[in-house]
Amino acid sequence: MEHKRIDENKIIDGTRTAQSIKDEVRELTADLQAKHGITPGLAFMLVGDDPASRSYVASKEKACAYCGFHSTTLRLPDDTPEADILAQIDRWNIDPDIHGILVQLPLPAHVDEDRVIEAISPRKDVDGFHPINVGKLVIGQECFLPCTPAGIQELLVRSAVETAGRHVVVVGRSNIVGKPIANILLQKAAGANAVVTVTHSAAPDIGLYTRQADVLIVATGRVNTITADMVKEGVAVIDVGINRVEDATRERGYRLVGDVDFDGVAPKASRITPVPGGVGPMTIAMLMKNTHASALRTIAQRQAGGGRQTGR
Ligand code: NDP
Repeated sequence: MEHKRIDENKIIDGTRTAQSIKDEVRELTADLQAKHGITPGLAFMLVGDDPASRSYVASKEKACAYCGFHSTTLRLPDDTPEADILAQIDRWNIDPDIHGILVQLPLPAHVDEDRVIEAISPRKDVDGFHPINVGKLVIGQECFLPCTPAGIQELLVRSAVETAGRHVVVVGRSNIVGKPIANILLQKAAGANAVVTVTHSAAPDIGLYTRQADVLIVATGRVNTITADMVKEGVAVIDVGINRVEDATRERGYRLVGDVDFDGVAPKASRITPVPGGVGPMTIAMLMKNTHASALRTIAQRQAGGGRQTGR
């Protein structure tokens, strides 16, 4: 681990936790196959040639193979008409071997991302971005949770960071991190039940809020959003940010840092996630968990007489 000066017991190790989750999913998958003959299946769609998207999909394919899933990736050219994308999603929606559909974002400018997300059956929306799943999350119904915030909750639970009755402050209100994690931790449920404050760029002084946090979750995409003077002693810190900063000592010319000034904040914190190796690896692990859960759900549907999955 990079941060040698910090007490190792403070570190919330996302790499190790994600590996445990993938190992659990792998075992559950073997069980699902042995008992029910079902192999979880995940379909990826990659439109265009964005190197970062290609690398994300490759990591997800690798995790599928590790967990014993079958996966299929459809690579489409940048100028693919939206209608073709929607037609393919419809085919996957009714394919009984596909339990999860993931369209890698961002999509080219001519494609309406919202329309594409809404075309995915909510029952196969393992990314948890469909408005039906978002709505269910808000009202506390069972649904697919989006993978990064689900990973944050799982990290907190598995690291024994209590949230019930404690003040969680979320910095950032994006639809993929800030808003969903605030809603997840607000629920009257195990691993949640927090008093939640959400702050963002419109706040004149976010320190006013972050200094009150028992648990601080930061997702701004800005280096040093949180410095030592902005937290209280004993805070547990989850740093979601992934930022590149120039570093001539590295072969690739940069290194990755979070949104929190780790070296300044860690001495005051009771627990803290590193970057890299904190929240990052959890996202794919939770995607595996969601896909397994989706496959498992088809058994109940079969038993209820549903037979073939019809998607919507
Ligand atoms: P967005 O850019 O969509 O949202 C950033 C949020 O932070 C906005 O709500 C913005 O406020 C707020 N914000 C920005 N600057 C400040 C500031 N100085 N003070 C207070 N609030 C601020 O980012 P995402 O949520 O998508 O991602 C955040 C970070 O997390 C990024 O570094 C991203 O790379 C990383 N990330 C990591 C993932 C992983 O580990 N797997 C997955 C997803 C994201 P406003 O709304 O007012 O503009």
